[in-house]
Amino acid sequence: MTKFIFITGGVVSSLGKGIVSSSIASLLTLCKYKVRIRKLDPYLNIDPGTMNPSQHGEVFVTDDGAETDMDLGHYERFTGIISKKSDNITTGKIYSEVLKKERRGDYLGSTVQVIPHVTDEIKKFIKKDLSNEDFVICEIGGTVGDIESLPFLEAIRQLRNELGKSKTLFIHLTLVPFLSSANEFKTKPTQHSVKELLGLGIQPDLLLCRTERKFDKKAKEKISLFCNTSLDSVILVENAKTIYEIPLKLYKQGILKQVFTHLNMNQNRNVNLKLWEDFLDKFNKLKNFVSVAIVGKYTNLSESYKSLNEALFHSGIFNNTRVEIKWVDSKKIENISKCEQILKNCDGILVPGGFGRDGTVGKINAIKISKKLKKPFLGICFGMQLAILESISNLRGYKNASSTEFGKTSIPVISMIHEWKKNKKIVKHDYKNLGGSMRLGSYTSILFKGSKIYSIYRKNKINERHRHRYEVNYNYKKQIEKSGVVLSGMSPDGNLVEIMERRDHPWFLGVQFHPELKSTPFKPHPIFNSFIKALLNK
Ligand code: GLN
Repeated sequence: MTKFIFITGGVVSSLGKGIVSSSIASLLTLCKYKVRIRKLDPYLNIDPGTMNPSQHGEVFVTDDGAETDMDLGHYERFTGIISKKSDNITTGKIYSEVLKKERRGDYLGSTVQVIPHVTDEIKKFIKKDLSNEDFVICEIGGTVGDIESLPFLEAIRQLRNELGKSKTLFIHLTLVPFLSSANEFKTKPTQHSVKELLGLGIQPDLLLCRTERKFDKKAKEKISLFCNTSLDSVILVENAKTIYEIPLKLYKQGILKQVFTHLNMNQNRNVNLKLWEDFLDKFNKLKNFVSVAIVGKYTNLSESYKSLNEALFHSGIFNNTRVEIKWVDSKKIENISKCEQILKNCDGILVPGGFGRDGTVGKINAIKISKKLKKPFLGICFGMQLAILESISNLRGYKNASSTEFGKTSIPVISMIHEWKKNKKIVKHDYKNLGGSMRLGSYTSILFKGSKIYSIYRKNKINERHRHRYEVNYNYKKQIEKSGVVLSGMSPDGNLVEIMERRDHPWFLGVQFHPELKSTPFKPHPIFNSFIKALLNK
C-alpha cells in the first residue's frame, strides 16, 4: 500500500524544499520504487499561470497541459517521472472545488467549514489519481507559521491519524544559521519551528537542516534533544556546488535508512547511484567553456527561466563544457550598436519565451546581431515568433509586419488562429488543452528530412510542450520562406509552424515549443546539445 511522505519547511522560505523533495524521490526511484511527487501550494490563485514569473519563478508546463509550480520541474529533472495535472494543487483550486459543491447542494444542508470540508478536499487530492505507487511525496509550499498553509498542515495531521505511523512520514526542512559573532551554529530557529509544528499536532520524524556548511555533533545533539528526534534523524543539507549533489549528500548521511526505519520497511534495498556519480564526475572535470547571452524581459531573476538554465547546464555537462549565462535585459539593448557591443563577446544568443510588446525592440536587435555576426541563435516560443517577424520585415512591403499580441496590425504575421482571415484560410483548431486561449501541453511536430532539426532529433515525429496563445499565420508562409526562413517542422495537419531555421546561417533555430521543459541531467535535450556543440565549434 502507498506510503505518504510529507515535506514541510520552516524558519524562512527558499531553503530548497523542492530540491530536497526531488532528491528523496530520486533515491527512492533508484531503489526501483514507484514514486509520485506532488506540490500543495497555499496561494489563492487557481494555478500559477497568471502569476508574473519574476515574482513566483517559472511556470512549469506538464505534458497534459497544466500550468504548474516550478518545483514540478525539479521533480521531473531529478527523477524522470513525468508530472501530471493532478500533481499540483493550490488553495484556490481546493476552495473553488468546495464552493462548487456547496452551490450544487452536495453538502446536504451542513455548514461548510475549513475542517472538515476543506481538509477533506485536500486529503482527497493527496490520494487522487494514483496507480499502485509505493510512495507519494507531498511538498507543502510556504513556511510553517504562515496562515495560508494551516489547512494543509491540518490535513496531513489527520492523514497520519487515519493511516498510521507506518504509512506516513513527516520531514521538516529547517534552517540552522551560523552566527559569526558567537562563532556558533544556532539551533533556536529550528526549535521554534518544530514547536510551531507540534502546536499543530505534527511531530516531525526527520529534520533536514539547511546550513552554509557542516555543523558539529554538539549542534546536532541539541537539535535532537529539543526537537524530540533521534540523532540519526537529524540530517544536514549543506551548501553544494550544484543542486545535483544533494541526492548523494543525503544518501551518505543515511536518509534512506531513516525513511525505511520510520516507515517500518525492510532496510535491504539495493540502490543504484551510478547515474548521479557519473554525472557529478563529469561535472567536476569540465574542460571547455562557452558563454550564452539570454536576452529577456525577466532578467532580474534567473528563477523566471529556471528550466532554461538547467537545460543549458545539462547539455553543457554532456559536451564537457561549463556554460556561462549572461542575462541581458532587452530594454538595455534598444540601440543596435550598443546591442552589438554587448553581444559580440558571447558565443551564442538565445531569445527565450516571453509575453507582450515590452522589450521586443532589444530582442529583435539581438536577432539581427546574431545574423550579422553569424553567432549560433536559438529562439524559443516568443523568440521564434520574433525571429520570423525580423526576417519577413526585411521584405519589401513587410516592414510593419507584426504580432496581434502587440495591438492592431495590417500585416498580422503572428496572430491567433481565429484571426487568420486573410485568403479565407481559417483553420479550425483542435487544441485539446485550452487554458484560456492558450495552446498548452504536449503536441506533435513533423520534421522535414534534410533540415537541421531533423539531423538534431534524427526522427521525423517529435512531441514537445507548448505554452502560447499566438501562432505563425499560415497565410504568410510564402513570404516567410522568401525572406530566407526554412519552415522545417509543422503540426501534423500542416497548419501550424513549429520550427524555423535559416539556411544562410551556420546555426539558427527557432522553435514554437519549450524544449527546456524536457531536459534532465540524464537525458539532456538534443536541441541544447546541438546548440552547445555549435558554440564550441564556432
Ligand atoms: N507571447 C507569445 C504567445 O502567447 C509567446 C509565449 C511564450 O513565449 N511562451 O504566443
